[in-house]
Amino acid sequence: MLTLSSSVTKLHKVGIKNASFLKKLQITKIRDLLLHFPSYYNDFSKITKISEIKPDTIATLKGKIITISNKRSFKKRMYITEAILSDESGSIKVVWFNQPFLAKSIAKNSLMMLSGKVIFGQSGLVLQSPAYEYIKEEQVHTGRIVPVYPVTGRLTPKIIRYWMKLALPCLDKIKDYLPREIKQKENFLTLRDALKQIHFPDNAKMQEKAKRRLAFDEMFKIQLAVLSRKKEIQENKAPKIKFKKELAQSFVSKLPYKLTNAQRRSAWEIILDIEKNQPMNRLLEGDVGSGKTIVSAIAIAQTTASKFQAVFMAPTEVLAKQHFKTFLQLLKPFKTRIALLTSSQKLSNQDTAEEKITKKDAGKKDAILEETIKKDAANKNAPQKGATKIETTKKAVISQIKNGEINLIIGTHSLIQEKIAYKNIGLVIIDEQHRFGVEQRKALKDKTPKLIPHFLSMTATPIPRTLTLTLYGDLDISILDEMPKGRKKILTRLVPPDKRDASYEFIRTQIRNGRQAFVICPLIEESDKLGVKAAKNEYEKLQKQVFRDLRIGLLHGKMKSKLKNKVMEDFTARKIDMLVSTAVIEVGVDVPNATVMIIEGAHRFGLAQLHQFRGRVGRSTRQSYCFLFTDSYSRDVRERLFSMVKISDGFKLAEKDLIQRGPGEVYGKRQSGIPDLKMASLTDLNLIKKSHKYAAEILEKSIEDYPALAKKVRKFKKNMHWE
Ligand code: ADP
Ligand code: MG
Repeated sequence: MLTLSSSVTKLHKVGIKNASFLKKLQITKIRDLLLHFPSYYNDFSKITKISEIKPDTIATLKGKIITISNKRSFKKRMYITEAILSDESGSIKVVWFNQPFLAKSIAKNSLMMLSGKVIFGQSGLVLQSPAYEYIKEEQVHTGRIVPVYPVTGRLTPKIIRYWMKLALPCLDKIKDYLPREIKQKENFLTLRDALKQIHFPDNAKMQEKAKRRLAFDEMFKIQLAVLSRKKEIQENKAPKIKFKKELAQSFVSKLPYKLTNAQRRSAWEIILDIEKNQPMNRLLEGDVGSGKTIVSAIAIAQTTASKFQAVFMAPTEVLAKQHFKTFLQLLKPFKTRIALLTSSQKLSNQDTAEEKITKKDAGKKDAILEETIKKDAANKNAPQKGATKIETTKKAVISQIKNGEINLIIGTHSLIQEKIAYKNIGLVIIDEQHRFGVEQRKALKDKTPKLIPHFLSMTATPIPRTLTLTLYGDLDISILDEMPKGRKKILTRLVPPDKRDASYEFIRTQIRNGRQAFVICPLIEESDKLGVKAAKNEYEKLQKQVFRDLRIGLLHGKMKSKLKNKVMEDFTARKIDMLVSTAVIEVGVDVPNATVMIIEGAHRFGLAQLHQFRGRVGRSTRQSYCFLFTDSYSRDVRERLFSMVKISDGFKLAEKDLIQRGPGEVYGKRQSGIPDLKMASLTDLNLIKKSHKYAAEILEKSIEDYPALAKKVRKFKKNMHWE
């Protein structure tokens, strides 16, 4: 007997070939087949009398085949099958192309249902290439709302309909995991009926009802997964970091600027969170340049003052180094001891130790350690360079991290995955990431067996509300929706090829006036995965042809980190006027003197990403500019890019991007942890709110009261990546 877990090969006409095509659609079991939903429907439900049909319409006719035969059109080199169909009101000519077998398989005088397009031909009205089906108790391919399925290989929607019809009875055994209360309140179809109706709807209303139920299920599962994860995290114990008011006040009063209200509010939300003995799991979201670093510094100062360690992780070494410098400045008054740990092994410490070990290779920890020791021995007799700069080894720093003498550790995202032991981490901050991944959490758990630290992630990618309520529902969110005073709107221009030279002139003037520029190059060839070639070519072109008088630098991911650092340093020190860079490597650097952002092949980027690039300029009170170069004349592209000209709000752009490209494209499959949604939409705020409410109610009690649902959600959670 056919059941939900039977193989599809049990179905009539599924042989090895078809099974392999189905497998490409991820269909191996009957259950999978039943979850293969139509991509659209043809409404063939209205049967028209032949006397009433009109040209240029889609019609479904029911009648008798009076004649049928093949003709060969030598001119067009094809077979034409011609038939006459008649009903009580009249008759009409029917034609099919290149399906000569029809003349044999459709018998004269058979009663048939035909659905297709009516055209006005030379000899009157003709029904062209219709779907055809004998009159049965229940029609499948005609005379109804007909599902059209996504296919691959030699599969057709028709054969899938045939199998679907065979599989449908298995649904009678399907368990409905949705709690009865919800079904009643929402007047939902049962799962069985919803699935039956989504494939073969009785009418448009039932199709809508089926979709409503199935969409709810999808969103509800996401909500349960996300909210139960939140609950799990909260079940851990975290160190209480008591609020030190004077400390916070003195910190803020020493800043050269006033905090924005958004910064105050966010800092306060974080302070309240870390006072609790539940781990904070918060995302600080703020457009580029909105001042996230300082907010995190306030939390760090509180943490270290409570004698806990703080760990700050940046996405790249260049950024880690930049943050290290920033924090040295910001935390100067607080006697914080700070270490920078990167794979190129430059580490240092505010007032007692500073050491430089340059070593090219990332990852080769042991080798580096050895060299460090040797160097250290050689240095023994070297004169000390003053009390505040004591040379020390990486080994010494690591041991000071272990015994808690160093209380702020800065490095890249891999910091917690390395073999470094900490004394007592109270706060972990991860920059430019939406949340902590499962692996990162696990690694930290091993390092802090008793108390789980508070987590703060920070991102400049604006995440629309619909997503913070779904995929990011496990996080609490603070938003910096206000820019520091005095920033000017970045002027953005879309530059077609014929205006390129004029733009270059403008850029040259900017640079002559002492400003600097970025040039971002896209990936063009498949083989040039990191865009290295594209950036190199652009670099050469600019240096040799366009801006021979300027100092141009090149930055790409294949460069050794020492060289990368050097280029960045030179750019920061204005020894380079124009920095050509690939898009894949982070240019998240704070160079306020740069006022020009040039993006080559702008049409190859999404809006959210373009906005990120643009955020690299406009970091001072000077007017900044963003040039989007594109050689695409397509209207869609220009319209899309024009949003960049009109809109400067990152949230609005992100929302547009989400609608245009979908979350996977915008946030990256891994980052977003997006499950494949078939029915629900991540932009449907109503559905999201509703499912959120029900999920919260269920979890308030216990999901284990609903065993079938609990099982479903466990399985679902496994398939969701949380990076
Ligand atoms: P992001 O949110 O992109 O990480 P940063 O923290 O790097 O932004 O801040 C960008 C710049 O703005 C820094 O140079 C910082 O010193 C400055 N800044 C931060 N907050 C303010 C403020 N309230 N007023 C003026 N400048 C600020
Ligand atoms: Mg930042």
